[in-house]
Formats: sequence, structure tokens, C-alpha cells
Amino acid sequence: MGKAKLNVKLLRYTPEPEKIIAMSARLCYSPLPVEDIVHEFEGDKKKYIELVEKLLKIGHLTPFEHVSFTFAIEGVSRSLLAQITRHRIASFSVQSQRYVGETSDQNEDSCFDYVIPLSIEELGEEAVNEFCEQMKVIQKWYDKWVERLGGERSSYEDARFVLPNAAATKMFVTMNARELMHFFSLRCCNRAQWEIRAVADKMLTLVKEKAPVVFKKSGPKCLTGDCPEGHLSCGRLQEVRDKYSRMGV
Ligand SMILES: Cc1cc2nc3c(=O)[nH]c(=O)nc-3n(C[C@H](O)[C@H](O)[C@H](O)COP(=O)(O)OP(=O)(O)OC[C@H]3O[C@@H](n4cnc5c(N)ncnc54)[C@H](O)[C@@H]3O)c2cc1C
Repeated sequence: MGKAKLNVKLLRYTPEPEKIIAMSARLCYSPLPVEDIVHEFEGDKKKYIELVEKLLKIGHLTPFEHVSFTFAIEGVSRSLLAQITRHRIASFSVQSQRYVGETSDQNEDSCFDYVIPLSIEELGEEAVNEFCEQMKVIQKWYDKWVERLGGERSSYEDARFVLPNAAATKMFVTMNARELMHFFSLRCCNRAQWEIRAVADKMLTLVKEKAPVVFKKSGPKCLTGDCPEGHLSCGRLQEVRDKYSRMGV
């Protein structure tokens, strides 16, 4: 227990995502029975890829809601959790701090898992050690409250109030492709906080492998247009475009 390591895995996704998107779009405009629409794209990759590209170009995005991706994310902070769960079109299952205790064993050094901010790591070993010592102090506060509140599982519910934003958590997240594109446009931007940006980058790398055409232009908004951030812009447009054009290639 102690310093947590970010881990993002793509657990499941809708098979043949680009074909499903094309089929659902074709259905909107075709008088043919469903069987014929399904048959139309079998073995004709060029045809369904072209249609997906066209849908992206014209902004007909509801067909992209028929494919979804489920991720396991661990080694992230409760601070990350507060941000990612603002995305209302996603589905979440998160490790409970009510049912899963953070109690330490008798080892002096044992501590709940936590995330160390990059800015503190960059200050060097002394700063990191200080941060880790602070986490251990919080662990002791937590253990004390668990004991004073009865020492049962029910005591986790209120003892957790002393835990920090740095405390690590894990979750399953499911998003459809349309929501993912939106999520990447906000969270891959340099203006997004570093932890959620790191998670978004890993998710984007994973989905690009499975649906390269769908996510070809995914990333911050400045990949496909001007930066919308005005005077808050990071001013690194070319660097950002290079980074995302290399991703998943
Ligand atoms: C750089 C940055 C800084 C931020 N700072 C803050 C902050 O200081 N304080 C804060 O509270 N939040 C902050 N946020 C969070 C932000 O306000 C959004 O809650 C978060 O980005 C989710 O975006 P969303 O609502 O577009 O996404 P989702 O919830 O995933 O929704 C996707 C889209 O669906 C549509 N939609 C969803 N629900 C509704 C609805 N009820 N009505 C109408 N349309 C809907 C919208 O078009 C929306 O864009 C910040 C986000 C970023 C990226």
C-alpha cells in the first residue's frame, strides 16, 4: 500500500464498431429490410469506412452511440473521480469507501493507496517523502476514527471524512463512441487537469486501436480548428497537433 500507479485497461467493446455505426446510419436512409442492410456491409470494409468518415464530416453522430467501450481504471485519485463523473452520458461503478475500509495493519509504514501530484514529484525526493509522511498521519487519524466509531464496517462511512483527495480509487467506466469523442475534446486539452488528461490520453490510445477511423480526429478541439480557449490557450497548437496525430499510428 502507498503510492498508486495509474492503470487503464480496455475491458470490452462493441465488436466491429465501425460496421455497426455504418449499418445504423444506412438504416436511417434505406427502405431495405434490416437483413439486407446488414448484408450490404459484410466484407465491404471500404464501403462502411467511407460512410463512417462521411458521418463524422457532416456531424451525424447518433449512429456513434451504438458502440460502447468499457474501461477499468485504477490508481487514480478521488480528485480524478470528482472530475470524470461529471460526464453524465458515461456509466460508472466505483470502489466504495463505505464498504471497503482503508484500515492499516500494525506496520508503522502502512498506508492507504494515494496519488502523488506530478508537481510535488518534480520538487524532488524530500518533498515526496514529506507528502508520504502526511498520508501516514492521515492514515492514523482514519484508523482512530474507525476504532472510535465502533471498529465495524459501518464505521468506514464516517471515518472516511478525514481521507484526502489523493486517496486512490478504482472504477469501471463505460462510454459510447459519441461521448468518448466529446470527453476527449475536453479532457485531452492542455487546459484540463494533468491526471484526467493522462487518463483520457490512455483511453484514446486504446480506442484508436479498435476503431481507428472513428477516433482518427479525436483529441482536443484544436486538432480540427482554432483553439477555443482564447487568452487561456496553452499556445502550443502545433505541438498538440503533432502529439495526437502520432498517437496510435
Ligand atoms: C478545463 C475544465 C475546467 C472545468 N472547471 C470546472 C469548474 O471549475 N467547476 C465545475 O463545476 N466544473 C468544471 N468543469 C466540468 C465541466 O463544467 C463539465 O461538467 C464537464 O466537463 C462535463 O462536460 P459535459 O457536461 O459537456 O459532459 P457530459 O455530461 O458528458 O455531457 C455531454 C453532452 O451532453 C449534453 N448534455 C448532458 N446533460 C445535459 C443536460 N442536463 N442538459 C442539456 N444537455 C446535456 C451536453 O451537450 C454535454 O456537452 C471543468 C471542465 C474542464 C474540461
